[in-house]
Amino acid sequence: MSENINPNPSILPSPSATPASRPLTGPLAPPPPLEGWRIDLLKTFPWLKWLVKRRWFQFAVVLPNLFLFLVFLAAGVWGTPVGNRNILIVFVWIFWWFLLISAMVPFLSRAWCTMCPFPFFGEWIQRGSLTTPKMAAPGAKGAKVGINRYFGWNLRWPKALSNIWMQNIGFLGLCTFSAFYLTRPIVTVWVLGSLIIIATVLHVVFRQRAFCNYVCPVSGFLSLYSMSSMAEVRSRDAEVCLKCHDKSCLVGSERGWGCPWFNFPSKMERNNYCGMCMECIKSCPHDNMTVRLRPFATDTKLKGYDEAWKAFIMLSLALAYSVIYLGPWGFFKDLANFTESGRGLSAFLGYALCLWALPMVVIPTVFSAFHWVARRLAGAEPKPWKESFLLMAYQLVPLGLLAWIAFSLPLIFINGSYILVTMSDPFGWGWDLFHTAHTAWSPILPQWMPAIQVGILAIGLILTLKSVFKQAGKIYTDNRARLRFALPMALLMTLIVSLFIRLYVS
Ligand code: SF4
Ligand code: SF4
Ligand code: SF4
Repeated sequence: MSENINPNPSILPSPSATPASRPLTGPLAPPPPLEGWRIDLLKTFPWLKWLVKRRWFQFAVVLPNLFLFLVFLAAGVWGTPVGNRNILIVFVWIFWWFLLISAMVPFLSRAWCTMCPFPFFGEWIQRGSLTTPKMAAPGAKGAKVGINRYFGWNLRWPKALSNIWMQNIGFLGLCTFSAFYLTRPIVTVWVLGSLIIIATVLHVVFRQRAFCNYVCPVSGFLSLYSMSSMAEVRSRDAEVCLKCHDKSCLVGSERGWGCPWFNFPSKMERNNYCGMCMECIKSCPHDNMTVRLRPFATDTKLKGYDEAWKAFIMLSLALAYSVIYLGPWGFFKDLANFTESGRGLSAFLGYALCLWALPMVVIPTVFSAFHWVARRLAGAEPKPWKESFLLMAYQLVPLGLLAWIAFSLPLIFINGSYILVTMSDPFGWGWDLFHTAHTAWSPILPQWMPAIQVGILAIGLILTLKSVFKQAGKIYTDNRARLRFALPMALLMTLIVSLFIRLYVS
């Protein structure tokens, strides 16, 4: 997991023990210089700075979401069991998913986590407050994390589980049963209801956002794809942080909670584990944390095999879902939804086995084979296997994000009219709140969809190929070796995109 994550804030050296005159190494060292342009959004838009600095900011964005979430759950329990007539299915699995993957993640990073209702109750119990930070003397009971005061057990999350393998397994598990909750509102209620209960319990038992960092199945792909996002929370000036004795962004203050996501915000280099809660922007006494705009796909470093496998899982699922839900092969949909199609449990188990084997074994094996050939071809003094493997696995991040956008577009363009219908009649009870309950099913631009999908994939491929050749330069300084290494990897990326194109234009 990211090295900017501080798994144990209480054992960090005291800021006063590291005077600015002494060169810093390890967790307090400054981040490396920036690549590419940046626009400081809080300087450009003073109203935005004013807004995110309000103590009530996060509460104000979570509350309406929580209300909607509860209405959706009620619709799942008491509304019509017909999936495309129930607001829970249509808004969560079509509208929310499309917004999340096509707009929020690429442009706003993990802004969804700013407004997510899952951790609301747990965090409320843990903090004993909805908005104002509680303070305690260091070392006092209840002050196990920094100088903010927390309630609950405050246990440290087990080191062996401090990675995203649980999220990988959880997400794959959820996706195996996707046909059940995509079509049955009550199953979606069980899934979302369980997540909110688990989140609450884990907030009471463990410190801060352990659930979000290590358990939430949505978090895994948010963390991976937020690397490509055009927004970031970062410190403005590393020098200011070096001279800072408070380190309030880490330990908290009366202005803001210490980073709930276990980051050391001043040193953060990647978006992966920043939930954009804006606490560090409030807590920093030197106004040194901000939100910036940056080029697409700026964070380029995967830190472990857990993250690489997340990239394999996401790519595999985009491929599998394109076959199951968009392709003309009803056979696969029948396997996924075996209780309705009458295919039988053994057929479903075979389907589940294939769905797991693809990202866990098949794609990693193919990827490793290409990577092995690339290293052999390059010849000259290779870096360690893991280093070049992770650098190349990163290439699947922007590519995977654009593949998911290409997959998700038809969801909204073809099924968008269900949003208007369920807005007016959320429970399927015959209401017509906004006079749109009888909107006829009318797909938008269906004849253009394959061309748009191919266009998105082509952009993904161009960006990826550029990145493959650039990143290869970090492994081989010799130009000839670099080219020989990059060519097989570029071929693999091209084959992957060709496969998607074949599926969308078949
Ligand atoms: S990590 Fe999951 S539970 Fe936590 S805020 Fe993000 S989406 Fe919500
Ligand atoms: S971000 Fe602010 S609080 Fe954190 S180390 Fe830098 S100056 Fe100090
Ligand atoms: S405190 Fe700052 S670094 Fe930590 S999650 Fe919130 S916004 Fe991100």
